[in-house]
Amino acid sequence: LEKLSVVDPELKGYIDAELNRQRDKIELIASENIVTPAVMEAMGSVLTNKYAEGYPGHRYYGGCEYVDKVETLAIERAKKLFHAEYANVQAHCGASTNMTVYFAFLKPGDTIMGMDLSQGGHLSHGSPVNISGTYFNVVHYGVNPETELIDYDAMDKLAKEHHPKLIVAGASAYPRIIDFKRIADIAHANGALLLVDMAHIAGLVAAGLHPSPVPYADIVTTTTHKTLRGPRGGLILTNNEEYAKKINKAIFPGIQGGPLMHVIAAKAVAFGEALKPEFREYAENIVKNAKAFAEGLKAEGFRLVSGGTDNHLILVDVRNKNLTGKEAEKLLDNIGITCNKNTIPFDPASPFVTSGIRLGTPAATTRGFKEEDFKEVAYIMGLVLNNPEDTDKHAEAAKRVAALCAKYPLYTNL
Ligand code: PLP
Repeated sequence: LEKLSVVDPELKGYIDAELNRQRDKIELIASENIVTPAVMEAMGSVLTNKYAEGYPGHRYYGGCEYVDKVETLAIERAKKLFHAEYANVQAHCGASTNMTVYFAFLKPGDTIMGMDLSQGGHLSHGSPVNISGTYFNVVHYGVNPETELIDYDAMDKLAKEHHPKLIVAGASAYPRIIDFKRIADIAHANGALLLVDMAHIAGLVAAGLHPSPVPYADIVTTTTHKTLRGPRGGLILTNNEEYAKKINKAIFPGIQGGPLMHVIAAKAVAFGEALKPEFREYAENIVKNAKAFAEGLKAEGFRLVSGGTDNHLILVDVRNKNLTGKEAEKLLDNIGITCNKNTIPFDPASPFVTSGIRLGTPAATTRGFKEEDFKEVAYIMGLVLNNPEDTDKHAEAAKRVAALCAKYPLYTNL
């Protein structure tokens, strides 16, 4: 059993290059994070060899005595972390958690309501290019054009008009608190099930820094790799026993085959980490840093969608800098800051160009960045985006990025 560097030096070279990219750049993609070596160790374990179709105690394969323990640990920790009665930890990713719920509770042609992709929703909430938008009749809700906050009254009106069977709440690019109780009232008053996809904010919910959807929603889905800081994967929660049974069946044998036991083990590790007091401190820092970052960006003349942030995420409208989102992303990438172009509500530009960029604090906060470091990042972004043609300023920005990365070294034991 030879090491990867011996068996496949080309591939090992790409992994090393990616490690250096993560070390040398400031990661501001709001949906990314940096897992602990413990999470990575579980993911890179012998559990990848094991087939375990079914659920703990009810498998279609022999030799599952240890993976049963692993999956049970993941389930119990997820339930404890989110105060939920039932958890399914087998979904391979966030998109498949939502597909599972649709498969469990809907028939093709049913009406669903989800947040418009261009206003902060996710592809899997009914976008025409996603299976959710192809199999179901989708009605989109969104934000108020003035406040850029979710328009709950308009959502209520739409629900009364269209009688959706299911409403999906949750977002990929919404910087404010979401009122899950209000949405649950709208859904239930109109005979709809409520699915909350808390993928982006799960870590904040776990730490009590965003109101939890679990008491209000019929089903809650999430990814495990964003603010929650686990391996790439999905998690589904509910407090209803009948729904839990339907969800289990919909995952297996419904839409998936064998579970990824190595990833489930890594989820268990991450849930265990999130149950510790240090994680609450981490999540508090995510939010504090986002607020400091938002203030710093405003001082550099940036317009923030909705005027600021309550969570880990900031959406910047770059039109007043005479830039597109695509141009801003590229300019920042050139000096070592990684983020993504993103549509802003009522964006006149196409999704390939966009008028905004989406920024998040989870990954750099894991690295150790504090409020003053995020003020410095805001200043660096000002240097570049306020002076898109000034190469001297860009060189200074790149130097400052390098200094911040050196201040917080990453994965020093790898
Ligand atoms: N749901 C939301 C709200 C998301 O933001 C994302 C990903 O960004 C997903 C679901 C999909 O997760 P995955 O990429 O793991 O399928």
